Amino acid sequence: NRQIRLAARPVGEVKPEDWEHAEAPAAEPGEGEFAGRTRFVSLDPAMRGWLDDRPSYLPPVGLGEVMRAGSVVEVTASNHPRYQVGDLVVGTFGVQEQVVSDGRGTVRIDASVAPPSTYLGALGMPGMTAYFGLLEVGALKEGETVVVSGAAGAVGSLVGQIAKVKGCRVVGIAGGPEKCALLTDELGFDAAIDYRSEDVRKALRTHCPDGIDVYFDNVGGDILDAALARLAMHARVVICGAISQYNAESKVTGPSNYLSLLVRRARMEGFVVFDYAARYKAAAAEMAGWIADGRITVKEHVVRGTVDDFPATLQMLFRGENVGKLVLELV
Ligand code: NDP
Repeated sequence: NRQIRLAARPVGEVKPEDWEHAEAPAAEPGEGEFAGRTRFVSLDPAMRGWLDDRPSYLPPVGLGEVMRAGSVVEVTASNHPRYQVGDLVVGTFGVQEQVVSDGRGTVRIDASVAPPSTYLGALGMPGMTAYFGLLEVGALKEGETVVVSGAAGAVGSLVGQIAKVKGCRVVGIAGGPEKCALLTDELGFDAAIDYRSEDVRKALRTHCPDGIDVYFDNVGGDILDAALARLAMHARVVICGAISQYNAESKVTGPSNYLSLLVRRARMEGFVVFDYAARYKAAAAEMAGWIADGRITVKEHVVRGTVDDFPATLQMLFRGENVGKLVLELV
């Protein structure tokens, strides 16, 4: 059973030496357990945070432990009452070829609803993040102006499209002309800003003449500052993530102009998607409906390889090399 384990705590960008490529004996399922073969591994920016030994919403991955990851496995042997050989199951099984699980925290995949990888994306954690972050934390109302950063990514591409379903004006911020064209031409965004080549403050003035009602932040740093400078009255700033800061070796850069929250009577609120777990089922059903009727287009970036390709694939997120949800399909 090939596994990727954490060998060292990274400083700054994760390096190949921070991982151990290990071989472990395959385990047999005990009473009430099933064994499975990994088919798809999820790559998530949050993984960078799980490598640091500091308090967070989950304990850090321990040195020598199999890297934590969401994945889809195919059941190969089962003593579990709910699962049979051949079933596809999604759960937090880690970066390894074979798993044994008692089924806690797992969900059976219904392949008639969506392909298995989508249960790691639009119907999984990123989809739930977009849904609850925008609708609950962002308290979105019809007709508002929404700006989302990381807009061509897993969460961001869904945030923008959900906002369109809700009758809002949507501006996406992403890196590069191809991603920006995708947002406006394929995903129905009203405008896109290429933060690599444009002055984001100026572009927000152009595209949000009446200000931003909801700013959904995936990246932090200078882009957060630029959005804060353009808030409408009673705006909501949703702190979903700050990928521009995850590899920071020194202090995280905070917004220098947070007093715009005072002037605009706005609020800024962070959230962790896991707090909404009791409501995932209903939200995923609604999302599946939007996908089925064509109102939401699912973008996935599937890299085919082995678990040994996990470290290099993870780095793609920090270089902006993915479009939509990044997954590693084990072949
Ligand atoms: P994405 O699919 O959006 O991939 C990451 C993207 O971030 C890249 O494609 C890249 O796009 C962009 N990026 C990378 N580095 C930078 C940088 N320095 N500055 C600006 N943009 C950068 O990932 P996810 O959709 O999975 O995650 C998006 C965010 O949501 C992350 O911050 C993540 O931590 C957060 N998250 C939070 C959750 C919560 O519960 N709060 C749950 C799940 C995710 P580009 O080419 O446009 O730069």
